[in-house]
Amino acid sequence: MSAAGRPGRLARRVAPLVVLALAAGCAHEAAPRPSAVLVTLDTTNPGALGCYSGRAGLTPHLDALAAEGVLYENARSVAPLTLPSHASMMTGLWPPRHTLRDNGLRALPESAETLAEAARARGYQTAACVAAVVLGESYGLDQGFDVYDAPHGAGPGHGHVLERSSAEVTAAALRWLDGRDRARPFFLWVHYFDAHAPYDPAPEFLARAQALGEARFPAYLGEVAQVDDAVGALLARLRAEGLLEHTLVAVVGDHGESLGRHGEPTHSLLAYDATIRVPLLLRYPDGYRAGERSAEFVSVADVAPTLLEALDLAPGGALDGRSLYRRAVPPGRGVYFESSYGWLNYGWSPLSGWASAEGTYLHSSAPELFPGPAGTRGEERWAAEPALAARLLAALEAATAGPALADDGAAVDARASWPTCARWATRAAAASSACRGLQPSPASTRRARTWQSLAAFYEASLAAARTGASTRAWRGCARSTRPSLRACSWPR
Ligand SMILES: [Zn+2]
Repeated sequence: MSAAGRPGRLARRVAPLVVLALAAGCAHEAAPRPSAVLVTLDTTNPGALGCYSGRAGLTPHLDALAAEGVLYENARSVAPLTLPSHASMMTGLWPPRHTLRDNGLRALPESAETLAEAARARGYQTAACVAAVVLGESYGLDQGFDVYDAPHGAGPGHGHVLERSSAEVTAAALRWLDGRDRARPFFLWVHYFDAHAPYDPAPEFLARAQALGEARFPAYLGEVAQVDDAVGALLARLRAEGLLEHTLVAVVGDHGESLGRHGEPTHSLLAYDATIRVPLLLRYPDGYRAGERSAEFVSVADVAPTLLEALDLAPGGALDGRSLYRRAVPPGRGVYFESSYGWLNYGWSPLSGWASAEGTYLHSSAPELFPGPAGTRGEERWAAEPALAARLLAALEAATAGPALADDGAAVDARASWPTCARWATRAAAASSACRGLQPSPASTRRARTWQSLAAFYEASLAAARTGASTRAWRGCARSTRPSLRACSWPR
């Protein structure tokens, strides 16, 4: 009930405070409401940035930003996949709860309460400039954005990687900044995709990587350098307009790039640190903790609660991520990650895991354990430590037990192409709307079975692990997650 109908004692207490506040307002111009800029770096390994590797010269702008903010050494993605990772950034939820487990499969349910929706509801201008179709508005991350500037044209031959360059993305962001209402605060999200394969940097950035003596992956590192240049142009504008004085800047990777580690050339299938560990930087307007390096375990799912608090907004519901805004995370905090890609596309074992300073547990048909903070002790080291495994498995189970967003059937785009529908039409809701009239294929039928059995698989395999029963008996999937990447038979 509103207190408006019964003033009295409360009003008498508040009135002098209001007078004081008004007097202060007369003496000094009120500080502007805070704004926030979120920069997401697709496919970027922490070690590709100078501020993480200690090797100067490749990424001067991001290195300078890190020196002005907090650098998180143990940041983890929720999945080595662009859409699920960004969905966690925007919702603060682990993928089992926001329901996006792969790219291109379905859209974020309308029932999601996104960071941009919360900001817009409180009068913020909201804009997104994204670089690739994998984050196109069809997939629901546009919820809450006044402007959602994304490439179009998904179709045969393009897949998810139709993209535009980092320079084009920055140009779009600067255009939006030019045209915004300067009297109102804003939330701006800018996404850069250059570092995603195929690697084809401009010659000057390739030369920059080569000049550092990078003989193994100069083209990949050249792409990262190219992104750094575009981020630098964006930051220069923010600085020139004085916006950095009241704007929180968050920079985060959506996932890394394996570059041959574990036998995986790029990303998506496996869920080792090689692709799950990401860069995460927070720059505060007042220099809070400037130059610090934090060893805390944090997640891309922390982006939403952190920015919500920075903008003085309250989360709409219980979130999996935690606010990092001017605070430390509790000791022992762990973070969830997964990859359902192999399961959904090839019938391999799904992967899910829990990472904390104690260790990393990777659940699958052949569970793996990496004692210690993998980022500092090396992810190759692993051993059977049943007590530790049990603790981490329990944390993993608890993390996946939360309620998922309601499937409101909104996950369909009217312009859906058949390849998209083939993946989407795994659900009756999808098949009955945008994909109606399109012919089902054997692939879509197979995917339907996948969706129906995915939840059951997790349940069964977690139960088996809990009771000590071997999960290796699962339909011949054993060792399918090892570097050999052998496919197992499809569950019948
Ligand atoms: Zn990505």
